[in-house]
Amino acid sequence: MIWNETMECMSREDLRKLQGMRLKATVEHAYHNTPFYRKKMQEMGVTPDDIESIDDIVKLPFTTKQDLRDNYPFGLMAAPMSEIVRLHASSGTTGKPIVVGYTRTDLGIWAEAVARCLCAYGLTKHDSVQVSYGYGMFTGGLGLHYGVENLGGTVIPMSSGNTQKQIALMHDFGAKALACTPSYALYLAEAIHDSGIPREEFQLKVGIFGAEPWTENMRRELEEKLGIKAYDIYGLTEVAGPGVGFECSYQNGTHLSEDHFYPEIIDPETLEPVAPGQHGELVFTTITKTGMPMLRYRTRDLTSLIYEKCECGRTLVRMTRILGRSDDMMIIRGVNVFPSQIESVILEINELEPHYLIIVDRKNNTDTLEIQVEMKEEFYSDEMNKILELKKRITSRLQSVLGIGPDIKIVEPRSIERSQGKAKRVIDKRVLY
Ligand code: ADP
Ligand code: ZN
Repeated sequence: MIWNETMECMSREDLRKLQGMRLKATVEHAYHNTPFYRKKMQEMGVTPDDIESIDDIVKLPFTTKQDLRDNYPFGLMAAPMSEIVRLHASSGTTGKPIVVGYTRTDLGIWAEAVARCLCAYGLTKHDSVQVSYGYGMFTGGLGLHYGVENLGGTVIPMSSGNTQKQIALMHDFGAKALACTPSYALYLAEAIHDSGIPREEFQLKVGIFGAEPWTENMRRELEEKLGIKAYDIYGLTEVAGPGVGFECSYQNGTHLSEDHFYPEIIDPETLEPVAPGQHGELVFTTITKTGMPMLRYRTRDLTSLIYEKCECGRTLVRMTRILGRSDDMMIIRGVNVFPSQIESVILEINELEPHYLIIVDRKNNTDTLEIQVEMKEEFYSDEMNKILELKKRITSRLQSVLGIGPDIKIVEPRSIERSQGKAKRVIDKRVLY
């Protein structure tokens, strides 16, 4: 199902023309209304007249999270506060929060972008969606909320936490879809199992998971545990919130609504665009936002883009699964390690629960990598030598994937803290020194 066929299935040539026009209008708007952008462009010797087509985007300056912090709270607004009808702030996963403002038009665009996602997941106005992303300054809750209303579906505005009530209402109201972080979905799956309510009594068919990186193996785990089809939703506060990208039923990459949010992939070192299809840092320019437009915002998310038309009929570009943020990358004994690589391995091993904690430290001038992981209840009582054999198996598998050997600690079932929002799975003690 396609929500906005004109925009989602437009020929690439027409789309690029439209993007060019929208970019030009956005740059003009930003230049004349945001001193920060004007100054940056003047420093580079660029004026709005230099932007004629979407290819000219490379002439524009980049914007970083630091720029948003330096201009905290309202320095990047391009509309007077009388036009700003909503504020949000990033959850601050990586430091001091940043603030974004939306005009009424921006909110309409965002809600439509989320409605596109929901429609791609096969949802209609007949369906109810339990929104278990946090409500408040975080964009997850309200973002999904207005998307469901835009679709005409029924919102169950649960917000996160209160797990027992989540399950009771999901059951009683017959929620067809659940929107939350994949880590909270995992926690809910466990709690549903513990509740003793048979899974058949739930109407749940669709998972709308995002706001943090998750792996294919985690998808399978969630689909099996909840008896659903689990879809990716992608977004970030600086650009809008959830709904910048979504998976279609082919689940062959995450489509980006590039008629609103123009993506580029750059080499984070040289800042040059990478060759088509190559991995690098995702950069977005908003080309329809008026409250707080973003020019070439560096997301720090690492991915690649696929431009071929998708089997679903959409021409919207697809991005491959996000490896993580460049900030998530740990350098351990000189080797680059992403938490998502560790997750992939742990979820392949049958005896383990999908709950883990990564602890990085430095002892005797050497980096150490400890991975705590829970063993499934039915295996936990096994004899010592079986546990030792398992530890060896995990270590050697991780050694071959990561290139360094971790120290595995098998911990009691349910001893690792469960997440209700974005999971915190890495403790890097080295930063404390
Ligand atoms: P914060 O930066 O404080 O976490 P946001 O809520 O704006 O605030 O988080 C946006 C970030 O969350 C993205 O840049 C990305 O790193 C991550 N993210 C969001 N959706 C996904 C997804 N579907 N897959 C992987 N990462 C995601
Ligand atoms: Zn598709």
